[in-house]
Amino acid sequence: MLLLLRRLRLFAFLCFLCCCTLELVAMGVPGTSHSCGDGALPPTNLAYFDDMRKLHSNAIVAGVITEGERLAVVLDQTILHPQGGGQPFDTGSIEAVDGTIKFCVTDVRTKSGVVYHYGNYHENRVMEATGFEPGHEVKISVDGARRTLNSRLHSAGHLLDACMSNIGLGSLEPGKGYHFPDGPFVEYKGTIPSSDLENKRDALESEANHLIALGGQVRATVASYSEAAALCGGRLPDYIAKESCPRIICLGENLGCPCGGTHVLAISEIGEIKVSQIRVRKGVTKVYYNLPKSEA
Ligand SMILES: [Zn+2]
Repeated sequence: MLLLLRRLRLFAFLCFLCCCTLELVAMGVPGTSHSCGDGALPPTNLAYFDDMRKLHSNAIVAGVITEGERLAVVLDQTILHPQGGGQPFDTGSIEAVDGTIKFCVTDVRTKSGVVYHYGNYHENRVMEATGFEPGHEVKISVDGARRTLNSRLHSAGHLLDACMSNIGLGSLEPGKGYHFPDGPFVEYKGTIPSSDLENKRDALESEANHLIALGGQVRATVASYSEAAALCGGRLPDYIAKESCPRIICLGENLGCPCGGTHVLAISEIGEIKVSQIRVRKGVTKVYYNLPKSEA
């Protein structure tokens, strides 16, 4: 029974925390005008699904989009993570393979399965007046320091949730997570008595750092529906289509969960976790945390 409760708990947590990217795929794109590459843009292949560590890759330009004052490049595939699932967007660059054009990516979003790389052409690197055209081959680069921090913060959220059951808080229902550097937290429906808050904070921090010390690999697997369900303890959230092949993330020996984000490859890469505060308000418990060894 305890195992079943734990499975259902992780299941619910993932639904909310990590699948915003997948949810966004189904949203519309109101008010978008296309300056080139008109017509329905094909869904962008999310290459970071297969390799979360890859910081350089090639791609083909599918279109260049204007949205008011904003400019976005759409590619056939990308290694830049769009904002979603409580994880911030990546930054980086898109450069012509011949070096004649460079586009600095300052924001990345997903709409209807298409990834929009927002930014501006580097002023000294546009030697062709029109910039990118559909069919141009380009090199993509990801800001490695930002990606690494976001992956560590995101993975720490997963790890903390695994620890909640271990310290006797498995009855709390997982809610949303916020894995941005400016105050990350994981949220739960339910409360902890105020007299227990400090003890639970200490226990949670201790358990998290214990699991980090134990180590283990973090695996991302795109599997058939039935295989994915097995990795997650036997069932998947209702929003995952039966005919789909979900991406499942497993931290060490913990049960997997559907997730569209980027993560560390080894639990030890999270580094030390500090649980700064557990706050209870209006029936909701928020666990605030940070990574003391983060440079950001
Ligand atoms: Zn995740």
